[in-house]
Amino acid sequence: MADKRDYYEVLGISKDADDSQIKKAYRVLAKKYHPDVNPGDKEAEAKFKEASEAYAILSDPEKRKQYDQYGHAAFEGGAGGAGGFEFNFDDIFGGGGFGDIFSDLFGGRSSYNSNAARRGQDIIINLRLTFEEAIFGCKKQISFQYKEVCKSCNGNGAEKGSAPEKCTKCNGTGRVMMQNSSFFGMISNIATTCPVCSGKGTVIKNKCKTCRGTGYTSTKKTLEVDIPKGVNTGTRISVGRGMGEPGVNGGPRGNVYVQIIAAESREFVRDNLTLYSETPISFADATLGGDVKVKTVYGDVLYTIKPGTKTGTRVRLKGKGVSHPVRQNEVGDLITTLTISVPTSLNKKQKEALRAFDNAMKGIYDTKEKEDVESENTSSKTEKSEKSSKKKNFFKK
Ligand SMILES: [Zn+2]
Ligand SMILES: [Zn+2]
Repeated sequence: MADKRDYYEVLGISKDADDSQIKKAYRVLAKKYHPDVNPGDKEAEAKFKEASEAYAILSDPEKRKQYDQYGHAAFEGGAGGAGGFEFNFDDIFGGGGFGDIFSDLFGGRSSYNSNAARRGQDIIINLRLTFEEAIFGCKKQISFQYKEVCKSCNGNGAEKGSAPEKCTKCNGTGRVMMQNSSFFGMISNIATTCPVCSGKGTVIKNKCKTCRGTGYTSTKKTLEVDIPKGVNTGTRISVGRGMGEPGVNGGPRGNVYVQIIAAESREFVRDNLTLYSETPISFADATLGGDVKVKTVYGDVLYTIKPGTKTGTRVRLKGKGVSHPVRQNEVGDLITTLTISVPTSLNKKQKEALRAFDNAMKGIYDTKEKEDVESENTSSKTEKSEKSSKKKNFFKK
């Protein structure tokens, strides 16, 4: 290890640099050379290792003293006054020196402060509604598990007379580095949650009988909730402020939300506050005009169509759509498409009437069997094509 660079040189600091200067220098280098930032770059990795090693030594007053006195020899097996120095992960990382830096570098991803107050999680309950329930609103009962801090152990999970003990794996920090045998192999391993205590920093030997060591008890709570008019799939309604999961370390509780899943309708297509539908009208009404029944979610309404209404005409019925879920007085419209329905089964009388009408349009007044056959075959391109095109023109009007 004779060609090892001087640690001060590695970090680019003077021999009398103070702790904050050492930290600052390492932070700059770690950020620049971290393997996460330079994936696959061997040179950057080597530089990162070198800087990490220098920092591990110089940030520790005792090791720094040894290094100042003996140089690299201080940490080479059996040599120097240190009597052989082994890198100890708990020493290096348990103290928080690296953890602080990595949390600075990676926005807290790598280290996790188990003592910080955190807001409890929200509880989100999916609620299925029919199409009508979503449009008109409804009352529903919802149930969920309401978690509370265990009263027997005050949430620490330990049986009366005992207490949680400091986790020996992580030395109470809640995080560990991957335990490679060599310090130089740890590089890609950033602090992770301690597998023994799940990041709590403590372990419970004698678990509380009430909560089985979880620190929480839960009871089923049922709420009656008012679903307003106009909700739709994806609408989230706050139904229990502060009734979500308990906070951690004095943080506030989360909330309870209901998230709507609304069924679709066969008759209406919903787009936000607007409803779309199709309304069949007879050929006679389309031609002569008349009152037609339009189905709406509020019941049938009569709509007067103008003579000569074409199939596909869209009609807007104001206020027959959906209420805004918050501004309940704001109501959308129904847009219905008028479609001329072609009768598929007619009785003899109806057929005769229709034939008579058709003939009247052509100026022919007699009805013959031959014509019946013809009318069922309008698409054939024979000598009848002239008549066929006449019919088509008529229907286009
Ligand atoms: Zn308990
Ligand atoms: Zn632990």
